[in-house]
Amino acid sequence: MAEDRAAALAEIAAQVRPCTKCELHRGRTHAVPGAGNPNAEIMFIGEGPGYHEDQQGLPFVGRSGDYLVQLLKLIGLTRDQVFIGNVVKCRPSGNRDPLPDEILACKPYLDAQIAAIDPLVIVTLGRFSMARYFPGAKITQIHGKPKYDNGRAYYPMFHPAAALRAQALMPQMEADMRRVLEVLAQVKKMRAAGASPSEPPKDEPPPTQLSLF
Ligand code: SF4
Repeated sequence: MAEDRAAALAEIAAQVRPCTKCELHRGRTHAVPGAGNPNAEIMFIGEGPGYHEDQQGLPFVGRSGDYLVQLLKLIGLTRDQVFIGNVVKCRPSGNRDPLPDEILACKPYLDAQIAAIDPLVIVTLGRFSMARYFPGAKITQIHGKPKYDNGRAYYPMFHPAAALRAQALMPQMEADMRRVLEVLAQVKKMRAAGASPSEPPKDEPPPTQLSLF
């Protein structure tokens, strides 16, 4: 139920805000639990808060956030129609990469958010959220290629910040975003047809297993 999902997310956020389970709590201004629609069919998972996110306690509100909103607009969505979260909820100082023990410490919060929302499509933004579902894969090789499993699609995309740094990635980023609704429709079709949720659709090749680099 919608109220249950909202209540579960509020409870997770209430646990995140005072959390001291990893060293990242020492440098934060605000923890950033995540935000969006508790009934979202599509959930975006980024890496961690940046400066503006840390200041406001909200995910993707800086330049990367503006770009993500532009990308959502391409497919007729607003940020209020999806849920946006991160692998770690507190800002790594200097925008460094989150460390493995920090990602591990924060994992129960993200797991609980995913369980509460139960999205049909999880879009990973960048390497760290991609690694949850595509261990060992390279983003340059698998972006835009969905994996269907257990009634859900996992869909890797570049992080918006990467496209802002290397603008040659933008056309690919936009093409990948334009495919998100097609992936969502495919999940709904599979569920409606009663197909095995872990069976990839016939027009979709299974994802390639990739070595580390
Ligand atoms: S990053 Fe996650 S685990 Fe670490 S202090 Fe923040 S909320 Fe807690």
